[in-house]
Amino acid sequence: MSVDESTSAQEFNYIEAIPLAHNLLFFYWGRHPQHASIDMRLGGGAFVVYEGEEAVMIDCMNLAGHGQYVRDFMTREHGIERFTLVNTHWHEDHIAENHVYSDCTIIAHTMTRRLMAENRSSLELGSPGVPPFPVVLPTVCFSGRLDIWCGSTLIELHEFAIHEHGHICACLPGQKTLLAADMLEDPVWFFSFEVASAQTQIEEYQRMAAMDIEHIYTVHGDVDTQRHGGYSKDFIHANAAYLQRMINAAVDGSLDKKSAEEMISQELAAHTLHWWEAYREVHELNKKTVRGYLKK
Ligand SMILES: [Zn+2]
Repeated sequence: MSVDESTSAQEFNYIEAIPLAHNLLFFYWGRHPQHASIDMRLGGGAFVVYEGEEAVMIDCMNLAGHGQYVRDFMTREHGIERFTLVNTHWHEDHIAENHVYSDCTIIAHTMTRRLMAENRSSLELGSPGVPPFPVVLPTVCFSGRLDIWCGSTLIELHEFAIHEHGHICACLPGQKTLLAADMLEDPVWFFSFEVASAQTQIEEYQRMAAMDIEHIYTVHGDVDTQRHGGYSKDFIHANAAYLQRMINAAVDGSLDKKSAEEMISQELAAHTLHWWEAYREVHELNKKTVRGYLKK
């Protein structure tokens, strides 16, 4: 798909609705190596929990039209009449179509609402490959932990100090399932040390790994793994180990001597992680972030 098509076409037949469980779908927008939007190059999507006539969207996709596509699909194919939207964090590939759900309750962390409001003008300008979109703020905010229900399905929203201020993940305890959004990425995740120190984020991964979960799904990951029951807790340990190794390499001066693949070679060999070339740029950004962090 060319960039021109991505910004003009209203046909989204490349989006796949992947069933992860009887009440859980992953709407996957695929991987588009030539796309101007980094999130389209990495690949990603959004989750929908549904029961009866109700659905809870966990994020609402990346480009104009994506969120509408999901809403139309759920209405048409599953008879959904009531939607609730959860924004896991304020990054554009999670909030771009909030306006499609402006008649619904939109739930997010208090910091997510604040950051969306503070960054409204830059978000509304769009970014490479992402056309401008109107910012619609969450209407129900919390910090720490919130339980919501989709019919009889409990969805626990948990805050973790990983990747971004106010980042929440969704846990379906009845199915031992965690929807991690951007706290976990395959093969490597985007660092930010404004949210918390490296040590704190590693401890947060340990807290996540202590949860009673067996099926882990991420927004940006290997779709074949997601299709077949998701990731195990090894995925959490792999993302934590990547951070620890990057810090260690920056301290001992070997950061530029190892490629991204070498940094995670054990996990790639074990098929815990899966290489995708577009993540080389994420790794390069992470090297800069780590260097800046250690200078402070
Ligand atoms: Zn993010």
